[in-house]
Amino acid sequence: MKSCREATRLMSESQERNLLLREQASLKLHLAMCAPCRNFSKQMQMLRRISRSYTEGGPEKTEE
Ligand SMILES: [Zn+2]
Repeated sequence: MKSCREATRLMSESQERNLLLREQASLKLHLAMCAPCRNFSKQMQMLRRISRSYTEGGPEKTEE
C-alpha cells in the first residue's frame, strides 16, 4: 500500500507530468481509502483551477 507521503508526491508530480497507469491506479486506490489525502487532492485541484484561470487571462467571468 502506498503511504500518504507517496500519494502526495504523486499528486504534485501529476501537475508536471502524466502519471504512469500503475501510478494513477495506486493513487486512486489510496484516495479511495484515505480522507486526508482526498481533501489534499481537492485543494490541489482547486488551486490548479485558480492558477490556470489566471494564466488564461484573469479570473473566471461571471454570468450576468
Ligand atoms: Zn493518505
